[in-house]
Amino acid sequence: MTATCIYCDEGDPGKFAGREHVIPQAFGSFGGQTPTLKCVCDPCNGALGRELDQMLARETLEGLARYGQGRLSKEMRPQRRLRFTLADETEAGGMLGAAITGLDPTTNQLMPLATQLQIENRQTGKTEIFTREALGSFDLPDEVYGPPGARKLTIFAPSKEEHDAFLDELNQAGFDMRMQGPSQLGINPSADETGQATLGIHIEGTFDQLHRRALAKICLNFAAFYLGDEVGSPRWTNLKRFIRYGEGELGARLSDGPFWTGQETATMRFPDAINVRLENHERGVVGVIQFYNRYTYELLLLEGQRLDREIAARFEDGQEPTLGTRGRPS
Ligand SMILES: [Zn+2]
Repeated sequence: MTATCIYCDEGDPGKFAGREHVIPQAFGSFGGQTPTLKCVCDPCNGALGRELDQMLARETLEGLARYGQGRLSKEMRPQRRLRFTLADETEAGGMLGAAITGLDPTTNQLMPLATQLQIENRQTGKTEIFTREALGSFDLPDEVYGPPGARKLTIFAPSKEEHDAFLDELNQAGFDMRMQGPSQLGINPSADETGQATLGIHIEGTFDQLHRRALAKICLNFAAFYLGDEVGSPRWTNLKRFIRYGEGELGARLSDGPFWTGQETATMRFPDAINVRLENHERGVVGVIQFYNRYTYELLLLEGQRLDREIAARFEDGQEPTLGTRGRPS
């Protein structure tokens, strides 16, 4: 049998050495039956891995949730697509809203306070944060932030040295930093029952096109694995091009409904699992993905279409996938 790539129609048998994982490998392996595909060519496998899987595993909320499952990374990487800010007023005091560098993927511990400039945007009345790391990528026009000496700004830093170094860099970069407001150094974490320091953190991510492509890829891979020839139908072409090349758009939303009706309640779900489902909705074929009992994404994969067979599966690291059927109340 000759393979044809489901993403780009490549047919050269010499280009199918690898296997595409239905659920990206960073999220676990599933017993002896980890679902993989032979029908994705090596160039697509490589490109999708670099562009979508790595982003999903490292720079999304579900990627961070994976660290809580003990799937730590060996390398240190900042989460550029996520924003961490102090959310507990008691702990943070004057630092409320200050940005944290991120989560250390090698330990699942928060990294220190980011050295940052907080400045009021006069047009919106909101405080904006520019970290030291972002120096060189932002500008401070007078009409937006006010003229030097009249700006409302504060520098936050973990130490006096970092604070002074950042101030120097800002001045050298041409920003006339006449400091008016106080600077803030250090924070006071709370301690939990075990004495471990904890910090109330607000994490913000964006559910953008790249994120949708990464999730849609899991849905299409899932369909290719469990519904076989179905994805050879031309009706999947637009979705494939969206995933592989970012062409077009995909309707998607976040929901908080239960995934496995009858097997779970509103508070008791499957916190260690990744759940995937393909089902017929009024609007068309919808792919549903839920990570670790938190984030449930619904993607409109095929508008106005129906599947002959709906399917759902639960993937828990180290265990065989559990297949199910329709999870919603009918
Ligand atoms: Zn391909």
